[in-house]
Amino acid sequence: MPNKKTLKKTKKPVSVEPKEELVLQPPRGMRDILPGDQPYWQQVRKITEKAAADFGYRRIDIPLVEFTNLFARGIGTGTDIVEKEMYSFNTKGGEKVSLRPEFTAGIARAYIQHGLHVASKPVKLYYTGPCYRYERPQEGRYRELFQFGCEALGENDPIIDVQIIQMGWRIIHQLGIRNVTVNVNSIGCPACRKSYRNLLVSYFESKKQKLCIDCRRRLEKNPLRILDCKEDKCVQVKMNAPQSIDHLCDECRVHFKELLEYLEELEIPFELDPTLVRGLDYYTRTVFEFFPHAGAEEKKKSALGGGGRYDGLVRSMGGEDTPAVGFSLGLDRLVLEMKKLGVRTYKEQKPRVFLAQLGIFAKKKSLRMFEALERSGIMVAESFGRGSLKSQLKVADRLRVELTLILGQKEAIDGTVIIKDMASGNQEIINGDKLIDEVKKRLKMGGMVVRNQ
Ligand code: AMP
Repeated sequence: MPNKKTLKKTKKPVSVEPKEELVLQPPRGMRDILPGDQPYWQQVRKITEKAAADFGYRRIDIPLVEFTNLFARGIGTGTDIVEKEMYSFNTKGGEKVSLRPEFTAGIARAYIQHGLHVASKPVKLYYTGPCYRYERPQEGRYRELFQFGCEALGENDPIIDVQIIQMGWRIIHQLGIRNVTVNVNSIGCPACRKSYRNLLVSYFESKKQKLCIDCRRRLEKNPLRILDCKEDKCVQVKMNAPQSIDHLCDECRVHFKELLEYLEELEIPFELDPTLVRGLDYYTRTVFEFFPHAGAEEKKKSALGGGGRYDGLVRSMGGEDTPAVGFSLGLDRLVLEMKKLGVRTYKEQKPRVFLAQLGIFAKKKSLRMFEALERSGIMVAESFGRGSLKSQLKVADRLRVELTLILGQKEAIDGTVIIKDMASGNQEIINGDKLIDEVKKRLKMGGMVVRNQ
């Protein structure tokens, strides 16, 4: 507590904020995830983390904010993400920084900075957390979005690409989303992509008048992205565009062929999608996306996740030559799909015991008793703020617990507790020392597994 002197000296804080109306909602495209939805998110967390452990991926956390030029260099200046969607700002110290719009660029930065390449290859890392993209919000598209993803750095073999696809596939399946197809494509390496890009440019140049305004601009900066455009007129034009898989160099062709063979081996349903290019500059060779099947009345659904190879990224940032492949899943979309499909999530744990207290001495003692029960693995509900026994028992009824423990003034002094069986209404006084054993016995909880599922 400050004394009077210091109180006198302390200046009143100056109010710098003009009195603006308080808007009781987060910024557009951002939202709260309320307790009612948490079982879905918990399920997603459980299954993604289990898969990461099973496939040998170790967690990495990177800052939410990085220097803007990391994303500009890594993802590419001509991409939608960097050009239009980043939350960028200057710090008070004048640094130009951005909220991460994705994780891969930051992970490549960390990989180089911490010399992670010294570990045996591939170096397998996984991440999870929010990213930020200033997109036009709609269902399944937010400005604050959550991703889980894996990166395998230092391995060129297409078997790793397939393992990465298998992992994403398995996670989606284990979440109860069954009708999913993997779309795959190969966009080649910088060598073969150069001539393919030229072919594309001359094809689209000849149809320029039929393209949307954005695609006319893309023609200069990022012609591959035209293949990605969803505008009707561009969809028509791109139907006859040259396809990258017809223009791969020998090495890229073999790489892709092996990848498809491995996918067949795993019996993962896939479709070749010549228009799949993904929006980021760093991709090379393999690109893929997971699509849930749309119902008869629905239009094509958005991807649940995607990824690909990025063999040049680490090198382009100043690291050594590091072939790499990764994927990320959109957790918001997984949860949406799970809800639409009515997937069952884990059951929230419910307390089977209620602890009621009466009188100030009993109230104090009940704090310790609560702790002792919890430590023994017995989940307890209480309503310590309520004074009357009647209102506490009402809460116990509502929670449908099996036992209520009542600690009144007399019991607190005697070191006893009343156990009430809620089904029969029978009450018994027992010695406080035997409480844990008695409760376990009555709940028929043998061994250590004492929480209900
Ligand atoms: P990307 O690497 O950009 O394809 O993102 C990977 C996954 O994140 C996508 O397949 C989506 O499931 C998800 N995702 C991307 N952008 C958004 C967004 N704005 N809102 C929600 N999920 C998104």
